[in-house]
Amino acid sequence: MNKEEGREKMSENEDTEDAYDVENVFAKILRGELRCDKVCENEGALAFRDVSPRAPVHVLVIPKASVKTWDAWLELGLEEREYFLTLVREVIEVEGLKKGGYRVVMNAGRDGCQEVPHFHMHILGGRVLGKILP
Ligand code: AMP
Repeated sequence: MNKEEGREKMSENEDTEDAYDVENVFAKILRGELRCDKVCENEGALAFRDVSPRAPVHVLVIPKASVKTWDAWLELGLEEREYFLTLVREVIEVEGLKKGGYRVVMNAGRDGCQEVPHFHMHILGGRVLGKILP
């Protein structure tokens, strides 16, 4: 799979409250229909390298539950949320980011420029990342 094939964008008019799209690229990865460069995994979450990395370390963490946004993720049970947060912590550890620092980014909806409509966090590090926005 090349970078272009991996990209599926939220439509510009799409609302964060629209229904979950089961054909989004991360849903396909979770179903095993698309490959990913896996970093680690647990019962409720998967971490893999971003196909278009913006830093030496650029890992995406996604819940296995079909949720599109932070708000939908917050509605999940405590156990599911714990799996996700535990995996975020594991990525920071296994990628060696704890000492030097890192950034966690979560884009939501049109204004947040969310491309893939399956909730995820970006874990970025491995260099000085600069200010949060240009
Ligand atoms: P966002 O703008 O927060 O929705 O970010 C989505 C991210 O997913 C982008 O950084 C893309 O480069 C990345 N991405 C898209 N398709 C894939 C894929 N198949 N495997 C890994 N990362 C992907």
